Amino acid sequence: MRRSRRVKIIATLGPATVDKAVIAGLVRAGADVFRINMSHTDHAGLASYVRMIREIENDMSRPIAVLVDLQGPKLRIGAFEEGSVHVRKGDVFVFDSDPKPGDATRVRLPHPEILAALKVNDSILIDDGRVRLHVVETTPERAHAVVDVAGRLSNRKGVSLPDTEIPITSMTNKDRADLDAALKEGVDWVAISFVQRPEDVIEVKQITQGRALVMAKIEKPQAISRLEDVIEVSDALMVARGDLGVEVPLERVPGLQKRINRSARRLGKPVVIATQMLESMILSPLPTRAEVSDVATAVFEGADAVMLSAESAAGQYPHEAVSTMSRIAEEVETDAIYRSIINAQRGELPNPTSADAIAVAARDVAQTLHSKAIIAWTSSGSTALRIARERPQSPILALTPKRDTARRLALVWGVHALQTRDATDIEDMVGRACEYSESEGFGVVGDRVIIVAGMPFGTPGATNMIRIAHLGEQGCPPKD
Ligand code: PEP
Repeated sequence: MRRSRRVKIIATLGPATVDKAVIAGLVRAGADVFRINMSHTDHAGLASYVRMIREIENDMSRPIAVLVDLQGPKLRIGAFEEGSVHVRKGDVFVFDSDPKPGDATRVRLPHPEILAALKVNDSILIDDGRVRLHVVETTPERAHAVVDVAGRLSNRKGVSLPDTEIPITSMTNKDRADLDAALKEGVDWVAISFVQRPEDVIEVKQITQGRALVMAKIEKPQAISRLEDVIEVSDALMVARGDLGVEVPLERVPGLQKRINRSARRLGKPVVIATQMLESMILSPLPTRAEVSDVATAVFEGADAVMLSAESAAGQYPHEAVSTMSRIAEEVETDAIYRSIINAQRGELPNPTSADAIAVAARDVAQTLHSKAIIAWTSSGSTALRIARERPQSPILALTPKRDTARRLALVWGVHALQTRDATDIEDMVGRACEYSESEGFGVVGDRVIIVAGMPFGTPGATNMIRIAHLGEQGCPPKD
């Protein structure tokens, strides 16, 4: 199964998608990566999702990436007796440490250190700022707050405290246990929430030790002020617009999205645009015009992936949300103006390395020759990533001996990855690149493809070769 679009789609799993048949349907509809949100998933749920995804991957013979999103020091309220309550402007509502389910007058805030840190007049923002309160009275165990903006409070919604100094580190004990469970399940990507400093990413990488790639969620002003340093140590970025739009004024989010996207591309790191992309599709089979435009903007910006959250995890139309996103992306990528916008975003190379130079050359040669594909023999995936960074017109076929690499590349713009044994010599490298180009539907006899590899074969980081080949009878290149 080969996608006709370059941008990838991440679908978050949840109560709407606990069934293998539904998840398989999402892959057919266009999902390339599944996100498991540890804010709402226990270890048994995680294991069950990973098992189903691996079975589907096997059934469909297509690498699928699993992205585990660690909750981070995100503050959340507890649960309610009835699942949710409505609070009105002027109501007094209490946050306390009582584990009993909440009601219309109170709910648990399961962070004693926060209850102790809250001061009179501090703002309390719930559910990405949809409901707003301010504190009028505190004791070490409880805070009384008055509702300024009315709305619905429901189970485990996020809490933001823009005025309160929070004495919490970026990895909680829950995150450590979740990360351990995720690594045992062999997940491909781990996203860290509320990153503030490069050290937050380094701390996770010291635990993962390359067993999963690490994505930094950019949602705090502190991370933005050290953006280049955070990108440098991360394997990918997520523009987590939900919390970002609470932590900074909403009107700054579009500009920050563009800036994060551009900086990540310059440094060759994949970037994911997340949150509320097709929000109305939680309840409706059709998106709004503005949502379609938002997804289209991310695709025009050349993001690696666009993400669905509640639309696929808890909405009534998960399948429609994925297929709508896929259709928007396909339409944008065939728009007459798309290529010129993508080309205009090209920046200078971050490093003058042979591998980067080869990636640029592969893009240019492929464009000049109207090649049907750029085939990258890649062990760690870095050759494919470098080529993807150039956003070439030709699709990228990544051939890798490592199953983990094939899965990880499912998140990357324009890359169709296949696991196959490593090439033994040049003839094998060219021959099989051509065979796969034909069998995967990239081209037919007579078409030209560009092959990029490193010698000696199987040496990570040795990208030093570019070869032009014609697809021939039986997929083998005829002698030029
Ligand atoms: C976000 O805040 O945009 C986000 C993706 O994180 P979460 O869904 O964990 O709040």
